[in-house]
Amino acid sequence: MTLDAQNIRGLLIDVDGVLHVDGEAIPGAGEALASFRAAGVSVRLLTNGTMRTRADLSSRLAAMDIAVPAEEILTAVTATAEYLRSRHPDEPVHLLVSGRIQDEFNGIALTDDEATARVVVVGGASDSFSFAALNRAYRMLRNGAQLVAMHKSVHWLTSAGMTLDSGPFIHGLEWATGTEAVIVGKPSPHFFQAGFDALGLPAEQVAMIGDDPSQDVAAAMALGATGVLVATGLGALEPPVATAPDIALSSIAELPRWLNL
Ligand SMILES: [Mg+2]
Repeated sequence: MTLDAQNIRGLLIDVDGVLHVDGEAIPGAGEALASFRAAGVSVRLLTNGTMRTRADLSSRLAAMDIAVPAEEILTAVTATAEYLRSRHPDEPVHLLVSGRIQDEFNGIALTDDEATARVVVVGGASDSFSFAALNRAYRMLRNGAQLVAMHKSVHWLTSAGMTLDSGPFIHGLEWATGTEAVIVGKPSPHFFQAGFDALGLPAEQVAMIGDDPSQDVAAAMALGATGVLVATGLGALEPPVATAPDIALSSIAELPRWLNL
């Protein structure tokens, strides 16, 4: 693989830690996206965000002067809904999630019934992950439901500091039930492939821009994409991984110059 920026025709861009941290825009992020658009570089956002619909996320970014239409966003929520429609059609699904994301699950039968749930979906952790909620999921899994995780991140960065994510809870449910969760969002190759397909480009013509050295950057590089690690968000806090990024930038604001735009 060559790292010639001329080969890059499309970008997959992570959201949390790359475009903003907890609602505070990364300086220059909106301008960078505008310059990609002006230069005809295709962009899709690829986020493990679990709390918002695409429409909500688009509105939230617009309020930070970051313009991305909902149609150009792929979230772990939408990927999970597509996974359920294709792999578990007509099966009752229990959501252990946070935020108002039910709109993305249109056509999927949702249930809180321990006896009939066939799938337990775990999204982002919050106060809704109470003992009662986790115990209900545990009983469903004991009854034979499949465990599906939007992602398995250990932590994420908020304005209050490093914050526990759903990974440790999923790990606990796996341990308690002797099962293994299906991971739908990053670093699943299927999620990146959905991004390449949405761009209409092969991995070799795509750069993945992320703040997570492993789940964003190394995972995309393993599929043949160029990996760009930014030092915003988690980027400055995570230890290095075995796969060094192809490119390391201080922030997404540097990317237009690297692409010679
Ligand atoms: Mg991130």
